[in-house]
Amino acid sequence: MSNLEYKMTKFRSIFWHRRDLRIEDNIGLIEASKNSKNLIGVYILDPNLLNLNRTTSEAKNWFLGESLLELQKNWERRGSLLLILNGDPIKLISRLADLIKAECIYWNENIEPYEIHRDKIITEHLSKNKIKVNTFLDQLIVNPSDIKTNNNEPYKVYGPFHRKWIDIINKTNISNNNIIPISRTSEKIRGLDNGELSLIKNSDLNYSITKKNKYIYYLLSSNRFKDTNFCPCKPGEYESKKQLNFFINSGGIYSYSQARDIPSLESTSNLSAALSLGTISCRAVWNKAQISKNMTTDEYQINSIDIWIKELAWREFYQNALINFPELEKGPYRKKWLDFPWQNKTDWFEDWCNGLTGIPIIDAAMRQLKHSGWMHNRCRMIVASFLVKDLLIDWRWGELFFMKNLVDGDLASNNGGWQWSASSGMDPKPMRIFNPYRQASKFDQDGNYIRKWIPELSHISTPNLLSGEILSAEKNGYPKPIIKHKNQTLIFKELYSNIK
Ligand SMILES: Cc1cc2nc3c(=O)[nH]c(=O)nc-3n(C[C@H](O)[C@H](O)[C@H](O)COP(=O)(O)OP(=O)(O)OC[C@H]3O[C@@H](n4cnc5c(N)ncnc54)[C@H](O)[C@@H]3O)c2cc1C
Repeated sequence: MSNLEYKMTKFRSIFWHRRDLRIEDNIGLIEASKNSKNLIGVYILDPNLLNLNRTTSEAKNWFLGESLLELQKNWERRGSLLLILNGDPIKLISRLADLIKAECIYWNENIEPYEIHRDKIITEHLSKNKIKVNTFLDQLIVNPSDIKTNNNEPYKVYGPFHRKWIDIINKTNISNNNIIPISRTSEKIRGLDNGELSLIKNSDLNYSITKKNKYIYYLLSSNRFKDTNFCPCKPGEYESKKQLNFFINSGGIYSYSQARDIPSLESTSNLSAALSLGTISCRAVWNKAQISKNMTTDEYQINSIDIWIKELAWREFYQNALINFPELEKGPYRKKWLDFPWQNKTDWFEDWCNGLTGIPIIDAAMRQLKHSGWMHNRCRMIVASFLVKDLLIDWRWGELFFMKNLVDGDLASNNGGWQWSASSGMDPKPMRIFNPYRQASKFDQDGNYIRKWIPELSHISTPNLLSGEILSAEKNGYPKPIIKHKNQTLIFKELYSNIK
């Protein structure tokens, strides 16, 4: 079909939401609504992505469930509907297309190996049935196929990746041209007629568009995050935008350079879950950062904004890494790590998970994760280094534990963060070992973060809290350290030198 013919023909279509739980600046959805005479949305709760033992957490289920409820309302407001189905997308997408005689299906691409494989099978099924599939790249600012070295190879090092990323963005001028205005997405969408709707309602798809949707109910019922303020990431498109505006308007972005490393301050954007599940677009976030930059001439503030933008680039770096090296999902990038003799002591691992190692900064961070579904980035680095280089436990145990607890658990960023901390990834820097006591003294100088998360130690003087030198009589039941940092790192270095 020629481009012209494509533009003139308006199809009966389905838009499949995946990691783009929003209406605004959603590239695939904009294209679908422009080119469809009837359009409905669908979201499929895919059991492979909702496994509490492997791929998701209670916090993430809460974020997903609440975001879907809001998205459903937004579709209804625009005159159509969003179906929420539960099951195998390979079967359900074809079944839905067949039932409503859809001619076209739209979605935004994902970058994770399982989803890429799944989508390939679905595309083949649909093509066999002469249903057109239109896919778009929405979740990254720069298309991975554009971001290659001079030898046309994927980047393995963050620094040059970041320079190229900025260079491409500056050339494409995202801030002026590429953000899709709200008006285009807030237009009415023509859905299906009542006859067609009852066809779905009475079908095996078990359709429900009401708030009582049983699958959403499953995500949210007895979920301890519901109606609480435990988690700093707020679900839904509306809240994500509010959170971004707050980060900018409260000055967070302007003081990010130093404040970002202090875990007791609420000084980062808390947008990680929103960016991971797509309740906000990465272009909108980038664009807001540019607007903030244009509003100041203060060098410190400009530098802060640039550092924040660098974090957005880390997100894209790790996604590019996973696209180009999907084997990262399974294990270390540096193969020699396969031979590392992990000690994997389960009692130490339990102590780490439960915030009972006796090392205050580690336990504070792990308790923050368990309670709130989120952990400050500085602390993620400290606890990851500790698990690998002090406890000598395979970093993949930590990676999985994070996925089972984080609200923003994201295969690419989580795997990237863990491989960086374990020194098994692409990072060219020499072996990093974090001393947890020194990290605490540097980044939690007044002990506020430790006191917040370990209230039984709140009476301890700051120097003792940071050095971990706490008298038994003052411990209030808090455990003594399970290891000595100095001894363990010596063991680690020796084991590491043997695999070189
Ligand atoms: C061991 C480990 C595991 C991690 N697991 C995840 C994960 O599962 N999901 C996740 O989104 N981030 C992960 N991170 C990265 C980072 O810790 C979080 O993105 C950040 O703490 C989220 O807070 P924020 O939204 O306030 O970030 P901000 O500081 O406001 O940064 C803005 C955005 O940039 C991105 N970003 C920031 N730092 C990083 C980074 N180091 N790597 C990749 N993207 C980054 C996030 O999308 C974040 O929302 C991990 C880091 C480590 C060290």
